Amino acid sequence: MERALSVRFLAAALLALPLLGAKETPPPAPEKSQVAWAEHCQGNDGWDTPGPPFRIHGNTWYVGTCGIAAILITCTDGAVLIDSGTAKGSEIVEANIRSIGVKLGDVKAILGSHEHFDHVAGFARLQGLTGAPVLVGTEAAGVIRTGKDDPRDPQFGLHPPMAPVSGSVRGVKDGESLTIAGITLTALATPGHTPGAMSWSWRSCAGKDCRTIVYADSLNPISGDGYRFSDHADYLAAFRAGLARLRVAPCDILITPHPGGSDMPARAGGGSMVGGMNCAQYAEAKSMALGDRLAREAAVK
Ligand SMILES: [Zn+2]
Repeated sequence: MERALSVRFLAAALLALPLLGAKETPPPAPEKSQVAWAEHCQGNDGWDTPGPPFRIHGNTWYVGTCGIAAILITCTDGAVLIDSGTAKGSEIVEANIRSIGVKLGDVKAILGSHEHFDHVAGFARLQGLTGAPVLVGTEAAGVIRTGKDDPRDPQFGLHPPMAPVSGSVRGVKDGESLTIAGITLTALATPGHTPGAMSWSWRSCAGKDCRTIVYADSLNPISGDGYRFSDHADYLAAFRAGLARLRVAPCDILITPHPGGSDMPARAGGGSMVGGMNCAQYAEAKSMALGDRLAREAAVK
């Protein structure tokens, strides 16, 4: 019995040898700040629930609340912020930026995902504190400047007005590449949830471990009563084109404006944002949701 065991052990050890040899670098240790955030926010994804900041990867930080993301990318020349959360949530974002040692004056640009109050209603306040220009999808710029819903938005009329952004607001087109404070970001238009919805991608390095991060916007086909996506052929075509772009985008790490939308809490609990749901799977799930929605619309013709 003992002899059989030791032979088996030896065989297992020999089998494991090539595997050990092939693995040059051990997996990175779990990121403690992610685990702390997951524990703090467990069971509470309130939009205005304060949570600590955590490092997503390299120079990319999560500075949002428990339920709404805000992303800070830092560089020696300054930082770029994506999204603010609600007006109230922006106070938590502000505190989180400070707590990782970044001054608000170092924020050189504020980028937006989509023009709904849960993600961008804090823009006016944060622009006042940072003096930074706001950059959003071209089709979202009007909403940001006026604070009023776009009549083309499937959820038109359902949201409270936002504080208008009175300083610089610039519209960004699909495929545009921006270099701000030494950070290069690529805009990926993903309309559908709103007309101006924008996803963003950039490279993040932790030592030699460089990854492409995609902050993929919300793509849920939801609407107010009476709106039918099938009545808006151009809008539907743009929705599908955005999904197709996202499906093939380089994407090592997927993050989303609603953290639960891409299983971020579970990944944070494990201490790494690498792996798990990718952009292709996310786009596929949203394509299926759109297909279901269109089928429901067809059924009540
Ligand atoms: Zn939304």
